[in-house]
Amino acid sequence: MPVVPCPACGTKNRIPAERVGQVALCGRCGERFPTHPLPARPVTTTDGAFASLVATTPVPLLVDCWAPWCGPCRMVAPMLEEVAREFADRLVVAKLNVDENPATAARLGAKSIPTLVLFKDGREVDRLVGAPRAPAALREWLARHL
Ligand SMILES: [Zn+2]
Repeated sequence: MPVVPCPACGTKNRIPAERVGQVALCGRCGERFPTHPLPARPVTTTDGAFASLVATTPVPLLVDCWAPWCGPCRMVAPMLEEVAREFADRLVVAKLNVDENPATAARLGAKSIPTLVLFKDGREVDRLVGAPRAPAALREWLARHL
């Protein structure tokens, strides 16, 4: 039976084979998450789950440090939806609310938001501070690393 970690709390959930590909409900925290190994939509991560997300993501991981009150962050959100879909087979996009997860925000040194941090093999390889000018600029930056 495939085991898929919840992107919000890190709990490993057993998924019956016939339900892989559907949306699962985390047995511990109630987060809904896709059971396809690589989600095609941005996932939500937290202080509690971040370390395991970085350690277990088998492809590059893009972390969006954002907050609900941040105007430029709202401009970035649809761009992230787009690249999560477009690069679904080779990138995972995760959103980190810096107000609710200050420990991880501090660890990442996200002093201004939005900050997009790209991890590869568990290590930061690049970051973008501030909103990309256009979806194409984000795509181009990502393509250099994927
Ligand atoms: Zn959970």
